[in-house]
Amino acid sequence: MFLGHFAVAAATKPAAPKIPVWMLFVASQLLDLLFAPLMALGIEHITVASYGEATIQAYYTHSLVGALVISAGAYWLGKRFWKTNTAAWTLAALTFSHWLLDLIVHRQDMPLLPGNLGRLPLFGIGLWSYPWLSYGLELAVAIVGWLIYARWASRNAQPTVRWYMGPAVVAILFLLFIVMDHP
Ligand SMILES: [Zn+2]
Repeated sequence: MFLGHFAVAAATKPAAPKIPVWMLFVASQLLDLLFAPLMALGIEHITVASYGEATIQAYYTHSLVGALVISAGAYWLGKRFWKTNTAAWTLAALTFSHWLLDLIVHRQDMPLLPGNLGRLPLFGIGLWSYPWLSYGLELAVAIVGWLIYARWASRNAQPTVRWYMGPAVVAILFLLFIVMDHP
């Protein structure tokens, strides 16, 4: 599930036009980006497999409270660098959207509290058990997200800039994920 997160990021561009698309991409993937160093430290784990088959233990970055804390960090980044409430809330919401989207596809491996404190039940609706359905949904979200972004780009084109460059780069990125990460 990379494509789905990036698609949601592209779709938020009209809501926060001052934030560059790459930063929206970073926010939508912030939980996974923070997962990487924790994995290197042996705190969180993933067994890489084909689409929808990975076994994931990400009890800090992908806990509900952890995701909220990371989203608060994204809010701070928005305030610090883009200086508007809209930017801050957009980055925070986008960061938290990662947890919600993961909740749809993950099997029951997402805790409420960091470190799965108290060993409460784990959450995950498990759409990955139906990989073609999940992949189809990601494709649909990607097309809609790209269209929203491309439409915004064409309408807000600066005379000196070729408006289609951004949408073209994003389309190439999306196509790479469509080809590389499928059932
Ligand atoms: Zn994730």
